[in-house]
Amino acid sequence: MPAETAQPHKDHKAVPKPTPETKPFWDACAEGELRLQYCTACEGHYFPPRFFCPTCLSRDVEWRAVSGRGRLYSYVINQSFAPPGWETPYAIALVELEEGPRLMSNILDVPQTPEALVLDMELEVTFEVRGGVAIPQFRPVAGGAA
Ligand SMILES: [Zn+2]
Repeated sequence: MPAETAQPHKDHKAVPKPTPETKPFWDACAEGELRLQYCTACEGHYFPPRFFCPTCLSRDVEWRAVSGRGRLYSYVINQSFAPPGWETPYAIALVELEEGPRLMSNILDVPQTPEALVLDMELEVTFEVRGGVAIPQFRPVAGGAA
């Protein structure tokens, strides 16, 4: 019998593994808060996490809570291939946060169709717990979408 390989269970979505750089991000998510790094030298947030600012290379960076509000910047709808735990169709979205950085995410509580997923629609973060890890997801702001 072949050795067991590290295949995710078919009913479960894959879970990200925190690294030293991303651990504060995931720790904040576990507390129900979206926190991004902020460069005090050039005064801007950035994402994904790293130990220095990608704009000015300064290491004067800190973690700051952000509003969790943003807009739908772009997306694609996956119609065909579903990784373990997923059902098609579902949108892979790029959300532009109020503070500037863009995150890849999914949009919940809305049909996964071009008619419902309107560019620039107002979104707010929510957290979906998968395998013990809280994943930031987005949903339309209450009252913001028809
Ligand atoms: Zn900077």
